[in-house]
Amino acid sequence: MNRTSYDVIIIGGGPAGLTAGLYTSRAKLDTLLVERMIVGGQVMTTTKVENYPGFPGGIDGPELVARFQEHCQEFGLEVATGEVQKLIDKGDHKLVIVDGEEYRARAVIVTTGAEPRKLGIPGENELIGRGVSYCATCDGAFFRDVPVAVVGGGDTAAEEALFLTRFASKVYLVHRRDKLRATSVLQERILANPKVEVVWSSVAEEVVSDNRGVAGLKVQNKVTGKAALLAVEGVFFAIGVIPKARFLADILTLNEEGYILTDNECRTSLPGIFAAGDVRSKILKQIATAVGDGAVAAIAVERYLEGF
Ligand code: NAP
Repeated sequence: MNRTSYDVIIIGGGPAGLTAGLYTSRAKLDTLLVERMIVGGQVMTTTKVENYPGFPGGIDGPELVARFQEHCQEFGLEVATGEVQKLIDKGDHKLVIVDGEEYRARAVIVTTGAEPRKLGIPGENELIGRGVSYCATCDGAFFRDVPVAVVGGGDTAAEEALFLTRFASKVYLVHRRDKLRATSVLQERILANPKVEVVWSSVAEEVVSDNRGVAGLKVQNKVTGKAALLAVEGVFFAIGVIPKARFLADILTLNEEGYILTDNECRTSLPGIFAAGDVRSKILKQIATAVGDGAVAAIAVERYLEGF
């Protein structure tokens, strides 16, 4: 980053951020997208994306991201790696502090997304990287021919469990209720897969270890009260996500779960700051809706800047 002043700074490089960047760059607004790690967000850890239009048969998450990036490059979007620590509102401009350096923008779009929620049971934190994981796409291949457990009952848990059947000898899906939250197509696949055993109405209580790493998962059935030890060597938690908006809590209005509150045009509580994608409060969090948000936020930014 040689320059420090832009029309627009986008914080976060998932589908919402990349789409916003595509739109603002194409509209000839001088745009910088700042990404903490690698561009792509949660899509980078998705094996097969089956519900994004235009890709019959599905597309691998990283390949979809590569296409988004290539498309953004066509319009000259500038992308930088760095962690945004603070956003300061100065009225007609905003200051974005990236790794201690100050950048200035006339408008900011926050697209920081969300990250996996932790369950907070004994053994979970201690065994991260030694059998506990939050990403089957990243770590699944380490669990060849051994039993593993997935905790959760949503789309992510179902997708992770199905992906893990490629490697693991058996996959326990531990869910706290007697019905999965995942969409019906995923439920059908889970129930039809002989490698998956759903452990219904059960909560995970402790990840048990031996001197090599994970050696089991203690669960308790909420209906019968019966405890059991699943003999697994890997535990994947997929119990939802939390928004990455804490660093903005002092300047933006968040809801009780920490998501940024916006109106239909992705405008936050502060003029000139917009939010798009999974970090904002909304009903449906999918790649398609993140992309839609990114486009809406970019157009709202254009209108806002024209008003000056
Ligand atoms: P989610 O839909 O919020 O599901 C979280 C799951 O974890 C639920 O089954 C929930 O149980 C369970 N859970 C939550 N807290 C728990 C706790 N303390 N102990 C035990 N279980 C707990 O989260 P997600 O699956 O990560 O999905 C996030 C969003 O991304 C959703 O909108 C989802 O549709 C979307 N997504 C879509 C796709 C796709 O379209 N292919 C793929 C992945 C994610 P309950 O059911 O009892 O509440």
